[in-house]
Amino acid sequence: MKELVVISGKGGTGKTSIVAAFANLAQNAVFADCDVDAADLHLVLEPRVKQTFDFSGGKQASIIAEKCIGCGKCRQLCRFDAINFNGPANDVVAGTFTVDPISCEGCKVCVQFCPADAIEFNDSINGQWFISDTRFGTMVHARLGIAEENSGKLVTLIRKEAKRIAGEEKKDLLIVDGSPGIGCPVIASIAGADLVLVVTEPTLSGKHDLGRVAELAAGFNIPTLIAINKFDLNPEMSEQIEEDARKHNIKVVGKIRYDKAFTKAQILKCSVTEYTGGAVAEDIKALWRNVTYAF
Ligand code: SF4
Ligand code: SF4
Repeated sequence: MKELVVISGKGGTGKTSIVAAFANLAQNAVFADCDVDAADLHLVLEPRVKQTFDFSGGKQASIIAEKCIGCGKCRQLCRFDAINFNGPANDVVAGTFTVDPISCEGCKVCVQFCPADAIEFNDSINGQWFISDTRFGTMVHARLGIAEENSGKLVTLIRKEAKRIAGEEKKDLLIVDGSPGIGCPVIASIAGADLVLVVTEPTLSGKHDLGRVAELAAGFNIPTLIAINKFDLNPEMSEQIEEDARKHNIKVVGKIRYDKAFTKAQILKCSVTEYTGGAVAEDIKALWRNVTYAF
């Protein structure tokens, strides 16, 4: 089983639309949405959730109101301003303290110094992840809780589970919609992958981001390819990107023209290749062929 990870320097390059089209074109694949900050592959693949699991990204403090003696030591010590004096009264004091779960960074200092042993330290539930059926095959995806930060740990978990399922189902390919950018989640998305496809667009920021993402993938020694989406909106910039790619020794394996079919397909919750058999679909099919030849 091979793993293809599709990434981009930033959001909005059409990465997820291309992954959805690949899902349509692949014959024997499992899919993973690792763009957990802006997960929208599900909008096109319309998963039917089979199994749901809680995701814990770490631990958090919580104060047991009945045990708190209201000394305020925890609030003095918390460097993250996560403790408030707004808890209920108990048998001893008129007011107690509480932990704001959004601000708590799980440093455990308050737990260690509470004189009344009133602070618990438990797994925090930061989101959920799912194993689902789609019309193209099994998909593993996630939803982070409100105000939770993108998590490399969640990305790693989703990839691991998707790989396990691909092995069980005897699939040839795992297609991963990776996190954008160059931070921890994208590193978690690509580490150990067989092939990375970088989707970019012909803008100055696209060119700049592409260089950084390409260097990142090269640092992991993973074969990397480039697709330029909406190449015809700025042919000169597309040429510059191709020139940059040559300098990085990376192949541009696809150029996809601008077409409103991308938006129309999104509205109808289908992939571009399901929506149209037109020229843009041929561009994507050519890209897909080149990507699969590269394994
Ligand atoms: S340190 Fe412990 S006892 Fe003191 S306010 Fe905080 S939770 Fe309550
Ligand atoms: S665990 Fe650390 S961050 Fe969380 S409330 Fe206690 S002192 Fe503050």
